[in-house]
Amino acid sequence: MLNIVLFGPPGAGKGTQSERIVNKYKLVHLSTGDIFRYNIKQETDLGKLAKSYIDKGELVPDQVTIDMLNAEVEKQVNPNGFIFDGFPRTTTQADALDKHMISKGSSITMMLSLHVPEEELIKRLLLRGKESGRSDDTDENIIRNRIRVYNEQTAVAANYYEMQNKYHQIDGIGTIEDIFERLCQIIDKHSTIL
Ligand code: ADP
Repeated sequence: MLNIVLFGPPGAGKGTQSERIVNKYKLVHLSTGDIFRYNIKQETDLGKLAKSYIDKGELVPDQVTIDMLNAEVEKQVNPNGFIFDGFPRTTTQADALDKHMISKGSSITMMLSLHVPEEELIKRLLLRGKESGRSDDTDENIIRNRIRVYNEQTAVAANYYEMQNKYHQIDGIGTIEDIFERLCQIIDKHSTIL
């Protein structure tokens, strides 16, 4: 299996690039943000819980997120691999993901981290808020809090993959196509199953 963790701060372009990677490499896309938003729309218990954190720009608690993600992984029958988008966001989640993949006789192949400067992120998120109406993208204070949470709690998760020599940083500035090309080059170079 080819299992990719797509990493980066809010607004780095993970969703946009995931779509393209999924089409090219036929992977299953698991976005924790998308799954939470689906649950919020359906007004499930999980959705109600997640909303109370997302509205403040905070992380949903680890165990809730890990259990949900593991259940989504288990739903797939004979996948080619996964692209994890928005997960793991803490070292605890990274460790849980490794353990879950190992229990399936698999592993994480690589982490691809999109690098985008903070002011550019804020610009992109405010624009997305206007277009999509995503409530966590319309308020600059919530956006700044998400970026702070990323810097304080999430960025360290990269070390987890660096220590395993699985970490790759990609410049996330440029056209969507240019960035996709950069990602594909690294995927092709470091994966054996194509
Ligand atoms: P973005 O990357 O633009 O911040 P996402 O759609 O990935 O947006 O996530 C939206 C929100 O969902 C996050 O701000 C957070 O509150 C919650 N969330 C998503 N993934 C996780 C996770 N792995 N752990 C905890 N909370 C999460």
